[in-house]
Amino acid sequence: MSVGRTIFLKASDSQWLREHGTKAPFVRRAVSKFMPGESFDDMLVAAKAMAGDGVSAVFTRLGENVRDLAEADAVARHYVDGIDRIKQARLACEPSIKLTQLGLDIDRELAYGHLRALASRAHQTGNYLWIDMEQSSYVDVTLDLTRRLRQEFPRVGVCLQAYLFRTREDLVDLMGRGIGIRLVKGAYNEPPAVAFPKKSEVDANYLALAQTMLDAGSRAGGARPVFGTHDVPLIEAIRRHAGAAGVAPIEYEFHMLYGIQKAAQLRLAHDGALVRVLIAYGAYWFPWYMRRLAERPANVWFVAKSLFG
Ligand SMILES: Cc1cc2nc3c(=O)[nH]c(=O)nc-3n(C[C@H](O)[C@H](O)[C@H](O)COP(=O)(O)OP(=O)(O)OC[C@H]3O[C@@H](n4cnc5c(N)ncnc54)[C@H](O)[C@@H]3O)c2cc1C
Repeated sequence: MSVGRTIFLKASDSQWLREHGTKAPFVRRAVSKFMPGESFDDMLVAAKAMAGDGVSAVFTRLGENVRDLAEADAVARHYVDGIDRIKQARLACEPSIKLTQLGLDIDRELAYGHLRALASRAHQTGNYLWIDMEQSSYVDVTLDLTRRLRQEFPRVGVCLQAYLFRTREDLVDLMGRGIGIRLVKGAYNEPPAVAFPKKSEVDANYLALAQTMLDAGSRAGGARPVFGTHDVPLIEAIRRHAGAAGVAPIEYEFHMLYGIQKAAQLRLAHDGALVRVLIAYGAYWFPWYMRRLAERPANVWFVAKSLFG
């Protein structure tokens, strides 16, 4: 893992930096590249604009490791209202949540209660619920709660990370249960005991897992295969593999993040691929933004340029 990546991922946990760094106007200017604003309405405006270009959306209110009961309740209410507002707006826009945002660190059943309420509202309104994946210590509990939820609600999917050694086994099990998979490379600082240390190994594992997701056996359970990546050569390799295997472009999707590889998003949608962009918003953006910097050192130059307006 590169030194730069490690530094940013460590910074993402710093309380001091969160309190001081987020106040600097130049940091706020730089972060606006990755989020349209802090409110649900800002997200809605961006999602509507993208819909005009044939790109659907996923929405997420930034936040993680909530340790206050009232705050976890408020987060759940925010998402339930958000799902209702998406229905009223008739937009293709799906919620994506982190379990620690729903109070997982306080109590597992509390988080599950909130998760169930969101899945139920998504189900009633014809929407779909995505569950993010956090650090490796949360993988077991996240997958346990996802499996439990799937027994009641068919329209749920979870993120899996290609950098983890365990992911192949998880992927086969979850797809067999008809649970949607959003495959990503992985955004956290993981030890070599659980994750591939080299980026080239992560990339190779991603492609191998993507091929498994597209094979007929994996898709037989009705799971939704989603590739969450901005890696254009990898996306092209997946599309070539799908074409050769006779999987139609409407049978799988690409999801990207707002503000990253916009040209590729539009080109893919124009080519007939199913594309969604995850739009993050909210006031608690610091750790999430540090992870975006860790992914691409060139982003630091963008922050530096923002310092000068
Ligand atoms: C829809 C979606 C949901 C995600 N959900 C999760 C999750 O739940 N859990 C989790 O651990 N991770 C999640 N991630 C993050 C993911 O794990 C990666 O850290 C991130 O996508 C970068 O990897 P990449 O596949 O784009 O490939 P990379 O090889 O890192 O990047 C490929 C190219 O994309 C561009 N790019 C990538 N990142 C950036 C950036 N930050 N700024 C500018 N350009 C960039 C660059 O051109 C780069 O060369 C999600 C990503 C997406 C797209």
